Amino acid sequence: MRSEGVRNQACSLGLRNETSMGGSLANSSLARMAAVFFMASALLGPLARFARGDAAAPLAAEWGAVAFGLFAFFAPWDRWPQRALHAVAAVGFGLKIVTTFEIGASPYLYALHYLMLFMWIGAALGPRVPLAWGLPAGAAYVVPLLLIGAERAAIASTALVIPASIFTGEAAAWLATHLRSAELMSQSRASKMAGLVDATLALAASEAPDQLARLTALGATEIYAADCALVLLEDADARLAPLGEAGWKEQSLERLEDAATLALLREAMASENGIGATGLVELAASFGLGSVRVLSLRGSGDALGVAVVGSFAKAEPADEFTEYVARTLATQAGLGFERIHAAESLRDESLRDPLTDVGNRRSAEAALRRLKPGDAVGVIDLDHFKRVNDSYGHAAGDRALRALADHLRDSVRGPDSVFRVGGEEFLVVLPGAGQAALSVVRRLHERWQDQERVAAFSAGVAIVAAGESAEAAVARADTALYAAKRAGRNRVVLDASAGHEAD
Ligand code: GH3
Ligand code: MG
Ligand code: MG
Repeated sequence: MRSEGVRNQACSLGLRNETSMGGSLANSSLARMAAVFFMASALLGPLARFARGDAAAPLAAEWGAVAFGLFAFFAPWDRWPQRALHAVAAVGFGLKIVTTFEIGASPYLYALHYLMLFMWIGAALGPRVPLAWGLPAGAAYVVPLLLIGAERAAIASTALVIPASIFTGEAAAWLATHLRSAELMSQSRASKMAGLVDATLALAASEAPDQLARLTALGATEIYAADCALVLLEDADARLAPLGEAGWKEQSLERLEDAATLALLREAMASENGIGATGLVELAASFGLGSVRVLSLRGSGDALGVAVVGSFAKAEPADEFTEYVARTLATQAGLGFERIHAAESLRDESLRDPLTDVGNRRSAEAALRRLKPGDAVGVIDLDHFKRVNDSYGHAAGDRALRALADHLRDSVRGPDSVFRVGGEEFLVVLPGAGQAALSVVRRLHERWQDQERVAAFSAGVAIVAAGESAEAAVARADTALYAAKRAGRNRVVLDASAGHEAD
């Protein structure tokens, strides 16, 4: 079995940790965005003055903006809590105060500065933060204007600039939040798809039903972000039996004895549309879980089983995409079980004789490869079988072959085995029979004599000697069989070279 590879795949079945994939800009990136804004606006003043032919030295606010811009660009923001970014906003408003005292009222410039700053606050710090900054930012805007005795029009601009800035900031926050959640959703979907691909590969490689069941339980748990899952499969007696689980509490397996629980599971397995909310609540209560989901495991034909996926707490209904991924997993699992069943029955058929249902020559060869010294083989051949066919017809001949096969199979002990190796020739393999082999085959012969039979049989027996191959032992048994035929048929002969002669 390719178990090692599959086990590794099972471990990587994890639908990749969603939180580790991030979903928002790092604090340092946000701070750098502000830093560039500060340094660019500090450059605008000197450039404007240069264009006007004004050779005045840079303002203190401009030096301040460059200095803080450099600091903000290189500071280790990611090691600090997100609220440290409020310092950037505070410095932004502080620079506006200094500028007012340096150049006086310049409403257009301040309005632009405020709109940019509030947009950044909204995008970086989220909804309601621009609103919270409204009052201090308003004070930083209007108080210096009052102190320098600015014109009424400049002071009145506060009433427009502050609400417009807050609105802009909140709009930016709303947009950023929605972009972030869309990004998170697409990451979560991508990770679910990747998980489904991992699971599909692992399911395709798995060769044992219990391993397939465990992988299915693991995959379903992860897709639904649930706590546990149990996979039940219909067995040969059409009973739903647990086959594999992930995190399932052992004691709740007792609930499977309960007829009502089993009936619900059967209903969920058979129906395309599930068992409805009430059924799921009943099932969850029965297993002592907060909530359950049930997936019918169906490949290309009828459902083969169910996966019960449980959460300890009450779970929200899954979105359509998650349901789609889960159903795909269930189909893959169903196809996997079908493949394993088909392979099993093919293997079984290839080793079985269709007429008599005992092992065929191929499985006899496998049994002979396991022979050890002290084991014994018996070759059994119906006497004058051709006459049976000739007198009673071929169908009667077939019935006789089936009757002998049944007789041999029902009469040997557990470790012994029976094979049809030719038209009317059978091989019995008797591990560890030793010297008792002759009496074992004689007993088979005697009991066959007692039955209502259309033909007797002759048999040759050989005990595998030390250093002897199985083929050589079978050849000796064959020689003994011919000896039995020559001696008048309807008898058992032990190969002479092994010691005892009989009948
Ligand atoms: P002997 O005692 O020497 O073994 O005589 P025999 O007639 O049994 O041996 P022989 O090898 O001459 O004939 C075997 C017969 O078994 C020939 C064939 O018709 C019959 N036979 C072989 N396979 C089948 C089968 O699947 N069904 C039926 N009905 N007859 C079969
Ligand atoms: Mg024969
Ligand atoms: Mg024969």
